[in-house]
This record gives sequence, structure tokens and C-alpha cells, in this order.
Amino acid sequence: MGKLIRCITSEGAVMATAVDTTDIVATAEQYHNTSAVVTAALGRLLTATSMMGNMLKSADNSITLKITGDGQIGTLVAAGDYDGNVRGYVTNPIVEIPLNDKGKLDVGGAVGAGTLYVIKDLGMKEPYVGQIPLTSGEIAEDITSYYAISEQIPTICALGVLVNPDLTVNVAGGFIIQLLPGYTDADIDKLEASVKGLESVTKMLSDGKTPEEILRIALKNFEVEVLYEQKIEYKCKCSRERTEKALMSIGIEDLEEMAADTKDTDVSCHFCNKEYKFTPNDIKKIISKKLKKIENKC
Ligand code: ZN
Repeated sequence: MGKLIRCITSEGAVMATAVDTTDIVATAEQYHNTSAVVTAALGRLLTATSMMGNMLKSADNSITLKITGDGQIGTLVAAGDYDGNVRGYVTNPIVEIPLNDKGKLDVGGAVGAGTLYVIKDLGMKEPYVGQIPLTSGEIAEDITSYYAISEQIPTICALGVLVNPDLTVNVAGGFIIQLLPGYTDADIDKLEASVKGLESVTKMLSDGKTPEEILRIALKNFEVEVLYEQKIEYKCKCSRERTEKALMSIGIEDLEEMAADTKDTDVSCHFCNKEYKFTPNDIKKIISKKLKKIENKC
């Protein structure tokens, strides 16, 4: 189980969220068998998505973060709900590139240049879609620039994933600190001074610090009040029903081809690799449902 905490400073100038996503990123690594740099990239995106999902206004809202870059990773997708639970996948789970000039996993190099999409389903007819060019592909910086450009909210974002030599996940987590409307220049100065010289999230987590302790250190110049704390997890929402719906959206001709085949059709979930088996007979049923739906529309 991961852990999420939300805090506010007592003067109400700053809102902050921090997470320990070690278990979530470990689950992602197990599902997708990612190489170290991909574990770091997907893990950072899952970590950000968890916190951003938890910032949504209503329980039926959801969020998807998608990064498309020209690096070897291809596309990274993470989806989250209002509770901060997440799931994700990546086009190329195995990418092997040298460490960057700081001796760290080269997430920016593996992602490349491209675009960050933030898609929020707020229960309206159309989802909200924000998109920005990637700043560095290191993901935390890209999240900061998304908030600056698309939402005009001054934000400090830190994300970290530490991968063990055997490719398991040592620690993962992060925080998002934002200035609330009505902030003053003095608040900015105070916040900048507060986070100056802050250790990396992975260092703090490795030292055994909790998300609450991390926020108290990052906001040391403020009086911090905890609003709530909750458990978060890697949670896939796939089901046979949802898979059937996805099959309904395929063209009739393709479905007929599947129904004529003697073999079953296996559909596997992108997020958790669970396989759903459909016999030719099942496909025939889907075709007749689809035809009925089309008739009803006419
Ligand atoms: Zn699934």
C-alpha cells in the first residue's frame, strides 16, 4: 500500500501533497517487466498522477497523463482517480541507455522531446485537455511547467524512483507544493528559502522518512497542518464488461472475422496484462448487440 498526505500551511498560502508510491511502482514493474530507466520514467509519471488525481474536485472525476516523446520509450500513460489510485503502461518497457552526466538513470534521454498531455474527465460532455511541450522529459519539471503554463499555478514538483541493481524498486515517491490564490511575493520568498538545499525525495525515503516528514522538511519555514492522510494503490479498473464495450467499438467486419475464426480471441489489458478470452460464440453475441444498438439509433 502506498500513502498520500495532504497539508496546508496555517496562513493558507501553500497547499502540499506528498506520496510514498514504492509499492505502486513495484507493482508496475512486476506487471510490465520494465528496465531500470523505464521503471523510473513510468514510476515518476504514476507518482505525479496519483497526487494530481487526488487534487480533482469530485469523486467521479478522473485524470490521465500521457507523454509522447521521440525517445526510445515511446508513449507513457498513467491514469488516476480521485482517491489517488493509479495504473499505467508504456509502449516499450525495455530501454537500455547509458546513465546521464550526473550518473543517474537518463529518464529525459529515454523520453526524448515531445508533449505532455493532461486529460481530466470532470463529468462534462468533453474532457479537459491541457498540453505542453516537454521541458526536459524528466517529468517533475514537465509537471511544474504544465501548472505554470496551463493552470497558472506556481508549483514545485519533485518525483523520484530508486531502482535496485536487481531491477526491483527500492523507494518511490514525490511531492507537489502549490501557492494558493492570493499569495504574496513574501510567500514566494519564504517558500523558496524553505525548499533551498532540500535533499532528493529518494534520499529522504531511503532514510525512512514518511510523506508527512518530507513535507514538514520541505515547508520548514511554515506552520504545517495535516488535512488528511490516505492509502493509495495500483488499481486497474478493467473488467470483462469493459473489455466487451471496447470490442463493441471495433468495426463489424473485423468482428465477423473474429467470429468466423475457430480460435478464441484474447484481449489483454494494457494496464495489468489480465487476459479476457472471447470464444467465436461470444463475439457473435457482441455483433448482435452492436447491430441492435445501430438499429435503435436509426
Ligand atoms: Zn487491467
